[in-house]
Amino acid sequence: MRVDLHTHTRASDGTQSPVELVEAAAAAGIDVLGLTDHDTADGWAAAERAADAAGIALVRGMEISTRLDGRGVHLLAYLPDPTYPPLVALLDKVLEGRNDRVPAVLERLRAVGIDLTEEDVARVSGDAAASGRPHIADALVARGVVRDRDEAFARLLNPGMPGYVDRYAAPLRETIEVVTAAGGVTVIAHAWGRRTLRVPDAEAIAELADLGLAGLEVDHQDHDARARTELRSIARDLDLVVTGSSDHHGTGKVGHDLACNTTDPEELERLLALAADARRAAGRDAPEPLGL
Ligand code: AMP
Ligand code: ZN
Ligand code: FE
Ligand code: FE
Repeated sequence: MRVDLHTHTRASDGTQSPVELVEAAAAAGIDVLGLTDHDTADGWAAAERAADAAGIALVRGMEISTRLDGRGVHLLAYLPDPTYPPLVALLDKVLEGRNDRVPAVLERLRAVGIDLTEEDVARVSGDAAASGRPHIADALVARGVVRDRDEAFARLLNPGMPGYVDRYAAPLRETIEVVTAAGGVTVIAHAWGRRTLRVPDAEAIAELADLGLAGLEVDHQDHDARARTELRSIARDLDLVVTGSSDHHGTGKVGHDLACNTTDPEELERLLALAADARRAAGRDAPEPLGL
């Protein structure tokens, strides 16, 4: 059984529609697909119909932009009730923060002689829940300023580059609590990313586990072999679920092909059992996995 629990569509900053993503996942031999657009459930409905038609299972989720001790942490939230008012409010604030940053980025780009308008960005964002840096990157590509997203980030949009502007992210601890109260489960995405500094460290992760964190995404393209080994051992010590995923963004992120990393079916089973517990404890009409 092939399980890929972290993917994006045009509902956030992927390049495929939810239907295209599901069809590509089926073609890639994926049996269980996790849909985890940034800070939104907008892609869920279309993906549900497509997964049913394609005969693959769907785990509905999202990847929430959070912050811990001043550092960005992406938190995967699986199967929360997306109508739970505190979750809606939390996501709205993140989406608003992302949108509100756009004029400041454009201003900074103008200062280095790059003239990009809000209309340019809106055109490539399409019906995404918010305009993020990848959309600004796409607008720069459309204008011929850079070749691709990678070059846009490396030259202009990464921290320390001329077009970088910080944005709001939700407090991590509070987000874990809100997702849990919404009947969902949480997994830290690419926990150590490309950082040389290994944060959050084992102690911080233990504290998050006490708050209800369910798992760690260990197998991810941004983790080298050593990071994976160390994270796996932290997860084992804390009895956290271990996941592996592609973090596929269509053509928007190089080296993240569907199923390039996968989740062990037994780990998926543990994650879904925790989600079922959370759903019952929350007493909310949280979504359930489809097709399993
Ligand atoms: P934002 O939340 O608007 O600041 O945008 C962050 C998003 O940019 C994340 O989802 C990343 O996946 C994406 N991203 C970061 N670096 C790159 C890159 N080099 N190429 C494509 N996408 C990137
Ligand atoms: Zn993304
Ligand atoms: Fe991420
Ligand atoms: Fe992601």
